[in-house]
Amino acid sequence: MTTHEPTSGGSSTRFDPWYDHYADRTAGLSASEVRALFAVASRPEVVSLAGGMPYVSALPSELVTGALDRVMRDHGPQALQYGSGQGTPELRERALEIMALEGIRGSVDDVVITTGSQQALDLVTKLFINPGDVILAEAPSYVGAIGVFRSYQAEIAHVLMDDDGLIPQALRDAITRLKADGKTIKFLYTIPTFHNPAGVTLSWERRLEILEICRANDILVLEDNPYGLLYFDSPPPNALRSIEEDGVIYLGTFSKTLAPGFRVGWALAPHAIREKLILANESATLCPSAFSQFAISEYLASADWKGQIDTFRGVYRGRRDAMLSALSEHLPEMSWTVPNGGFYVWLTLPSPLDSKEMLPRAVKELVAYTPGTAFYSDGGGRQKIRLSFCYPNEETIRTGIRRLTSVINEELEL
Ligand code: PMP
Repeated sequence: MTTHEPTSGGSSTRFDPWYDHYADRTAGLSASEVRALFAVASRPEVVSLAGGMPYVSALPSELVTGALDRVMRDHGPQALQYGSGQGTPELRERALEIMALEGIRGSVDDVVITTGSQQALDLVTKLFINPGDVILAEAPSYVGAIGVFRSYQAEIAHVLMDDDGLIPQALRDAITRLKADGKTIKFLYTIPTFHNPAGVTLSWERRLEILEICRANDILVLEDNPYGLLYFDSPPPNALRSIEEDGVIYLGTFSKTLAPGFRVGWALAPHAIREKLILANESATLCPSAFSQFAISEYLASADWKGQIDTFRGVYRGRRDAMLSALSEHLPEMSWTVPNGGFYVWLTLPSPLDSKEMLPRAVKELVAYTPGTAFYSDGGGRQKIRLSFCYPNEETIRTGIRRLTSVINEELEL
């Protein structure tokens, strides 16, 4: 199985002749224990509910080839050249248009195009984190963000969530505790909408409350929103950035609404921060891919991109429904979250089952999932499993859940 999410880092050992040469920050680049298994699980007979790959086959390829042809015909020399470290003005305008769908207003000057939102996570962390600084993050949190934070030697403080997202009182308590310990809290990293991995969405009331808590404590908010437009039933509450401009850095991406292969995302930063962000972007990559930016602008100008997002929503809604009904049928005594959008269901195993220990046996039974431990920096999540419904079709999802059920039942009988 391939997975788009980071599964590894440098696993330096005494057998590595450069062991003593690595920078201290590489200690945070820990190899994922599940990486080896994921390699085994890439066999076609294994049903993978583990990766988070968008179903790009739902994007008609002629929409892309048409856009690419026009890029070469109309903008060839520019598209093949280096470009601005901030990104093209056309695409920054487009990003604003897309963000307006979630209530966000902003200036094109404050949009910075990046190489996926993953790179924006890296740049923001680089700008703000000294070793030992604290980043508040949901419990659980996105595995790729945890990896970035570790690589800058941040301390990650997980804050509890429930079905309505991050719990405001838990955030207050964490801030009080960390301050009493003399810690420096730099920002709150949050995925308020269709959370990865938990699948839940922060309620509107809590959005207001959480922004208020961060404002009162002088804590910047890093809002990561790759899935907001992929809702199934009703649209989610507007983005945090639509409520608060000065204290929120917003991250968006074309990876889920178009295709991750372009590797294009963006940050909308408070005006004071965006200059540093551009400098950091230039120092990391000189500029985001001009070719990808031209291609996406061309696609947005010529294709019914909102209709295409509706198509993706329809596909993912059907897959979510297939997963939820299979879970209800086969594992009725267990609990899981019910996502109204995005890619993931978060399942709680009955004790004493351990999702990490169970994974090799699941792969033997030809089903793979991501154990909850990947989404915590503190060893939590042993009783949790992330199930992705984005890539396999409905029939395959049902097969996967049936296999998972027999693994769980066998474990319970042991
Ligand atoms: N944030 C979250 C929450 C994600 O799920 C992902 C992709 N899985 C990313 C960031 C990175 O996305 P990209 O770099 O493709 O924009």
